[in-house]
Parts: sequence; structure tokens; C-alpha cells
Amino acid sequence: MDIAALTETYPIVADIAAAKEVMWVNPDYGQESDLMGLTQADLFDAAARFDRFGAYMAVAFPETAVTGGILESPLHKLDQMKSAITEREHYVLPGDLYLKADNELPISGSIKSRGGIYEVLKFAESVAIKHGLITYMDDYAHFNDPEFHDLFSQYGIAVGSTGNLGLSIGIVAAKLGFKTTVHMSSDAKAWKKNLLREKGVNVVEYAGNFTEAITAGREQAALDPTVYFIDDEGSRDLFLGYGVAAIRLQKQLKDMGIKVDAEHPLFVYLPAGVGGSPSGVTFGLKQILGPNAHAIFAEPTHIPSVLLGMVTGLNDQISVYDIGLDGVTEADGLAVGRPSRLAGRVMKTLLQGIATFDDSRVMAYTAQLRDTEGYKVEPSATAGFAALQQAQPYLGTQYPMQNATHIVWSTGGMLVPESEHERNYAIGEALLNQ
Ligand SMILES: *Cc1c(COP(=O)(O)O)cnc(C)c1O
Repeated sequence: MDIAALTETYPIVADIAAAKEVMWVNPDYGQESDLMGLTQADLFDAAARFDRFGAYMAVAFPETAVTGGILESPLHKLDQMKSAITEREHYVLPGDLYLKADNELPISGSIKSRGGIYEVLKFAESVAIKHGLITYMDDYAHFNDPEFHDLFSQYGIAVGSTGNLGLSIGIVAAKLGFKTTVHMSSDAKAWKKNLLREKGVNVVEYAGNFTEAITAGREQAALDPTVYFIDDEGSRDLFLGYGVAAIRLQKQLKDMGIKVDAEHPLFVYLPAGVGGSPSGVTFGLKQILGPNAHAIFAEPTHIPSVLLGMVTGLNDQISVYDIGLDGVTEADGLAVGRPSRLAGRVMKTLLQGIATFDDSRVMAYTAQLRDTEGYKVEPSATAGFAALQQAQPYLGTQYPMQNATHIVWSTGGMLVPESEHERNYAIGEALLNQ
């Protein structure tokens, strides 16, 4: 990679390569473009599939029975946190601040319960239909029957993961009866590997980064025609599973009396790793809520893969290691050096911008969120607060902000062990008290 030439054409690459915090505004935002064939109809198809599987989820995972087997997270208003962060970081935030608490999503306690579980269910449905065990009109609680389990035990599901995707896919795939293999990068936390092994999942560990783990997993799965590989670097099904969040959010906003129109713009701040989950959600928001909903991604300064891909237009053809970054971050859910094949392409005209953040900020926000509102999340999940702060100067020049709604998407945390929370909290408190 000729960094000098890249920097010449895209001057921001110099700051990105120096691991400086940047706020990049997407020059193509709002233009017309092809969305790689993805449509609103695809989203509604995915939402309907989740609904069909509600009956199964409710029996297989009884903790989801209260919502009829539908996995959804609450939207919390953050008045105390808003005061605390704007005071500490010295800025003014017009409008209301909310937390989309995917850290509370059942099963994986992370945003991966959307895409990951969706793709497993879709594959299970296609196998069951092919073998004549079910029709679209049947009660999907039957997916919990022994004959389904027996059928699925002849198939494998494999995935590469930094942790949370492996958790969501591993838990549901193993429950359905699939032989399940999760290829974990060195960033994956030990507790995530242990939990999966307890559920009967085969965990393969790699000394290398996420790109190496997923590449090895893909190659291994390709050797066995009965193994279905869930590809975090380019799966449309994962993407659509994440996108369904927007259909549900539209109803939540309406029920809470929150308007989205030209005078009431909505801003959503999402952490990006490989870029699949934030892009899927953003695609959904644009399809469902339209032009007055705007998304901004957040990435660590040491591993801003989606940013580098979008700035240069090279997308998955460039990795952060190519420009000399080390890829090391406390935000383990975001530790992905090369972006997904879909993310940058579909986001080319749908994404407002991307902010990068120093790790110290997410550690501080993690402690601050707990102090002010009592929510315990993982560091990756607070990245949106960094984008929130960095985007305000620009957004203020573009939109009427008095009646704005800001949503920081909290992407993980419920399954994090107490000892891990305590470690993160201690680091964050020390930073807050500096
Ligand atoms: C996976 C993950 C993300 C980012 O999702 P990508 O699809 O990798 O961009 C953000 N936060 C947490 C906690 C995650 O596990």
C-alpha cells in the first residue's frame, strides 16, 4: 500500500495513520446510489421471519416468552448522563439523549442477537422446509421437537468472531441441534469462549487477529458441504437481521411520542467493528424513517477499518494494518482491521459520517454511564458517546437541533462477568477523577 499516494489524495489518511481522533463527514451522503440490491421488502421479509420464529424462541429460550419470543431492547432516556458528559467534555447538546439498550437483548446481551440469530433461524428454516418438516403456515414451536434436532445434527454451522457474534450464533445453533464451530480471534475474551464451550460449541482459538480467524474458519467450512458458514465479512442475512431493528424502533419512537421530521431530526450513533451491525441498522433507519434520520459511526483510533475503507473508497481492499496501525483496543467488539464487503458500499450514500475515539474515552463513558444511570455495559457499547460529542459542531451547521433526538446505540454488556465490569469500572473511574 502506497501510503504517501493515499495521503496525497485523501489528506485525512495522515491523521488516521497517526491514530489521531478525527470526525469525517461523508461527501456522498444523500446522493442517489444502488444499494447492492437490498430493498425495503427484504427488511419486511426478515421481520416476518423473526415473527414466525417467535413461537420457537419462547419455548426454547423461556426468558423470551414474556415478549412472545421477540428479541427487542428498551430505549432509555439519559438525562443524568447528558448532564455529566456535556459538563465534563464542555459542550452544549440541544435536544434529548437516549440509550438504545441492546446490551439488554436476550441470549447474547449484545446487538449480535439481531443479525447472528436471524441468520441461524433463516438457515434452519430453509433446511426444515427442504426436508418437508415445516411449512410457513405451521407453528414454529415445532422447531423444538426431537425430529428437528435430529435433522439439524446432520448439519454444521460455523462462524468467525471477536466474541459476541460467536455467542449469539453458538447458543442458538447449538440449541437447535447443529454441530457448531466458532473461530475466535485473539481479542475474544476468555469468558466468552468458556461460556460457549459450556453450551456444547466447538471453539477454535487463533493467536492472530479477526481477519485471520474468519479466513481460517471460511476455508475449513468450505471443505465440508454440510457446514454452513455465516460470513461476518459480507452476509446479507446478517445485515438484514440487524436492519429489522429500525422497524421496531419506529414503533418505540411513536409509542414514546418522539417525532422524526425536518424540524425534529433523529441522530443515531453506532459503534462499528466489521461494520455489519451499524450498516444494517442504518440501512433500516433510512428505509423506515427516511431522510430525517441520520447515522454516525464510531471506531477506535487504533482500528478504524470502516473509516479507512470509506475514505479511500477501497472498502474491504484495505486494512488498518496496511497503514501501520497496530489494531489494539480495549473495545474488543470493534477489533476488526478489514471492513465487511457490504458495509462501505451500502453506506456510501446513507451514512452521515464517522468519528474515531481514543480508548480512554470509552473506559470513562462506561464508568460514567454506571455512575449516572446505573447501566453496566461493555466498553465498545459506549463508543457512540464519542461520536455524539465530535459530531455536534458539524451537525449544528446543517440541521435545526433544538428539537433533535440523539440515540446512542449501546451494543453489548448483559453477559459480561462481574469481575470484568469491576475491572473496566476501576479504569474508567481513575480517568474520570484525573
Ligand atoms: C460486534 C459488535 C459491534 C460492532 O458490530 P460490527 O458488525 O462488527 O460492526 C459493536 N459493539 C459490540 C459490543 C459488538 O459485539
